[in-house]
Amino acid sequence: MGQFDRRTLLKAGLKAGAVVTAGALTSCSDTSPASAGANTAAAPNWNSFSRSLKGRLFMPSTAGYAAAHQLFNPRWDSVQPAAVVKAANATDVQKAINFARGNKLVMVPKGGGHSYVGASTISKGLMVDLGAIRGMSYTNGVLTVGAGARLYDVHAFLDKYGRSLPTGTCPTVGVAGLTLGGGLGIHTRAFGLTCDRLLSMGVITADGVARNVSTTVDPDLFWALRGSGGGNLGVVTSFRFATIPATKLGFFRLTWPESKAAAVVRGWQKFAQSAPITSWVNLHIDARSNGTLSIHVLGISTTGNAAAAAAQLESFVGSRASTRSITVKTHLEAVKYLGGGTTSPRTGFLAGSDVLKGPMNAATITALLGAVKAAARAKTPATAIIDPLGGQAAKQPTGGASWPWRSALGVIQWYCGTPAHPTSAQLKIAQTFITNGHRAVRAYSAGGYVNYVETGRSVSTYYGASLTRLRTVKKKYDPANFFHTAYTLV
Ligand SMILES: Cc1cc2nc3c(=O)[nH]c(=O)nc-3n(C[C@H](O)[C@H](O)[C@H](O)COP(=O)(O)OP(=O)(O)OC[C@H]3O[C@@H](n4cnc5c(N)ncnc54)[C@H](O)[C@@H]3O)c2cc1C
Repeated sequence: MGQFDRRTLLKAGLKAGAVVTAGALTSCSDTSPASAGANTAAAPNWNSFSRSLKGRLFMPSTAGYAAAHQLFNPRWDSVQPAAVVKAANATDVQKAINFARGNKLVMVPKGGGHSYVGASTISKGLMVDLGAIRGMSYTNGVLTVGAGARLYDVHAFLDKYGRSLPTGTCPTVGVAGLTLGGGLGIHTRAFGLTCDRLLSMGVITADGVARNVSTTVDPDLFWALRGSGGGNLGVVTSFRFATIPATKLGFFRLTWPESKAAAVVRGWQKFAQSAPITSWVNLHIDARSNGTLSIHVLGISTTGNAAAAAAQLESFVGSRASTRSITVKTHLEAVKYLGGGTTSPRTGFLAGSDVLKGPMNAATITALLGAVKAAARAKTPATAIIDPLGGQAAKQPTGGASWPWRSALGVIQWYCGTPAHPTSAQLKIAQTFITNGHRAVRAYSAGGYVNYVETGRSVSTYYGASLTRLRTVKKKYDPANFFHTAYTLV
């Protein structure tokens, strides 16, 4: 039942049933890219829209609106959607699309709300939160999951069946955003990306039509949704995944002194190129507030033999690590260990990425380390995190996927912590680190990872050789460019 009622309208100083434009409820002066003008001839009838929903509609005057439009990064709290639909089911999503289209409102879906650029909220537009659509079922190796589920929920559910899914590590990241942008994590080399495990998706396109896309039904849309990032082509309401076995995992954590930093990067590159696909290791180069660098790796072995994987990495580095920790964890222990628990607190940050075409030469490694070192000297809480690709990630899944970086070596994430509500000076410091990082590795960068999307970078940066075909699919399924923000395909 719709919850946006007469009381809410009165609180807003408006009469129930009155003609209300989205613009009248918010400032009209914001012309930033992440905002939606509402130049409608006839104003939206929020009241009847609200009554038509099984879920709830929140407007700025509704109790709970502040919490309803929050994302993971508190930096976006100041972005004020005209309204937030907390959808109860796919029909609510369909109604929201039709309502937004009919009223010329920009609409953005929200899954877990972890978008790096706040793309799941929109000033003056309609946010459609799918968080309540999170039901799961499991049959014969196949997981069916509502698009609002978070990663920890999925792992805890699958664990009961002795199954798992290759995903990222943060427990509160949404299955929707992660999968639609690819999905990288510890199983990437052994089992491919999250989007590679997709069998089908329920998706509602800009025309309001609910489709069940797969390699045989709307295969071009299925291809496009596997890796082009959320918010572009439709609102996915459910996913079906081919799961993987939930096995024990061997973990190794190794550190080296800063003097070995270049050798560790070289060793990591060799490992990413030639280690068995059952091994995965990511490299962290952290800026310490005392001006030095901390160098450590976190690796796993899906065979459980972490000691052998660690020894192989050490041989590539050419020196034994100064500290080593080797453990074996069950599936759910591993999920909690990697995610730092079962939930994660809202956090301020600015981040970006480069996809590495291949192993960097000595000068580029020096420049990369120099970018983090400069941040350390400036006491900026910065880190470069390098994840390997290869193995199954290098292969196209059945039916193909638009995720464009199959032949790449790995992905560097440039990550900088910020206060929850950073000043522009604080954002500038963080951005300087990211820009320096891009500059350092530009000779080896193929582009960026769409799940680590950044402001100020061309959208085409994220699509490589898939761009032209993605544009064709976009024109076919969204000819009027209904799904559009500063970060969507054009
Ligand atoms: C702390 C943290 C850890 C992370 N770890 C990893 C990691 O290990 N591996 C990795 O690959 N990535 C990781 N990411 C990046 C993450 O995959 C992306 O930020 C992803 O887009 C988040 O998805 P979400 O549903 O939580 O976000 P949202 O902000 O809800 O959505 C992201 C984008 O998808 C759109 N969208 C959301 N739901 C839908 C839907 N149902 N249909 C269509 N579009 C939709 C939104 O409009 C937005 O454009 C991490 C991010 C954070 C903040």
